[in-house]
Amino acid sequence: MTADSKPYPYFPGNRFLHSPGPTHIPKAVRDAMTNQPMDLSDPRVDPIIAGCEDGLRRLLGTKQAQIFLYAANGHGGWEAVIANVLAPGQKVLIAGTGHFSDSWALMAEAMGAVVVRTPYREGFPIDPNEIEQVLRADTSHEIVALFAVHTDTASSTTNDIPALRAALDAAGHPALFVVDVVASLGATEVAMDAWGINVIMGASQKGLMTPPGIAFCAADARAMEVSAKNPSHRFYWDWQLRAGPFSYKKFCGTPPHNLLMGLQAALGLIFEEGVDQVLARHRRLAGAVQAAVEAWSARGQLGFLVQVPQSRSVSVTTILLAPGVSSDDIRTIAREHYQVSIAGGLGPFQGRVIRIGHLGDLNPAMILGCLAGVEAALRKLGIAIGDDGLQRAMRALED
Ligand SMILES: *Cc1c(COP(=O)(O)O)cnc(C)c1O
Repeated sequence: MTADSKPYPYFPGNRFLHSPGPTHIPKAVRDAMTNQPMDLSDPRVDPIIAGCEDGLRRLLGTKQAQIFLYAANGHGGWEAVIANVLAPGQKVLIAGTGHFSDSWALMAEAMGAVVVRTPYREGFPIDPNEIEQVLRADTSHEIVALFAVHTDTASSTTNDIPALRAALDAAGHPALFVVDVVASLGATEVAMDAWGINVIMGASQKGLMTPPGIAFCAADARAMEVSAKNPSHRFYWDWQLRAGPFSYKKFCGTPPHNLLMGLQAALGLIFEEGVDQVLARHRRLAGAVQAAVEAWSARGQLGFLVQVPQSRSVSVTTILLAPGVSSDDIRTIAREHYQVSIAGGLGPFQGRVIRIGHLGDLNPAMILGCLAGVEAALRKLGIAIGDDGLQRAMRALED
């Protein structure tokens, strides 16, 4: 294929992007990003960065945490956390949630940490009792931190973060509490201070409606103290080196001006709509998707992966397929024939599931269009599904 060949035909109208990240970018965000970058000492740069930091603090529910922004994707945010809070040979407890906890654990091991894992039970959230037991058994307090993924985007499970804080407290364990909110922030409640979280990490391209390329950490005073004493080798990610008012130092070089302009605009949209309204909109749209999946499930060819209804994410829904039903075929027909792009399975779910992303810049008509495209693809492939998926989705959107 040559660089100028066009393997895919032109299509009119909008394509429906329903991967759980990257998500739709609102026009106001795209427009903000078309501004020229500035010279590094232009006084307009610092207020953009401060706007992003203040907005993130507000959305994260923290008054005191320091925010560190990186020109990186979510994996960069993960590495920043590990580099700052763990030294080689130190122990971290990583609660098993599936693909994303596994990936974070492999990264921690690659960086020299010793990882204690709790097993992921397919279809179920983290069991706080199991976490409490592991922490209680660690009587010499070798475990430096507990890492938990709020919403695991592969399984579409949202975990009970306050219950994990309660487990740490019940065990009387001093481990830092670290939470990944990449797929939950901007879609469901996150309350860093009220939930006793010491470190949060996230990224720009999911509920924050900004292109991929910005990762962030929020660190409280205890986490900053741990980082200050941490002897591990690091530079780019180092919170101590990134702290302070100078933007060139904050970013260890040139800040990603245009992404920051986009993020600032996106946070502005969230506050303009109202955080409570944004979260309520996500619950409502997720309710429509869940109503459709429930109806489609009637003939046994597909169903929810998450077995506990209250643990089903408002960001993404993972649909388990019966053996013989092809995830790739459904995705290809939905994308190429109906212009609806959905995700497939990650890690152990590869080939076994489809995932519908429903977070970010979405409204009822977009969700109904997505569900219609997916249902049409299922029907075109002759997969047996219940009849009233779209009707039920519409009914779920009535109130
Ligand atoms: C997407 C995601 C990541 C990784 O983000 P990248 O930008 O792809 O590196 C990490 N954690 C969760 C929960 C995610 O959904």
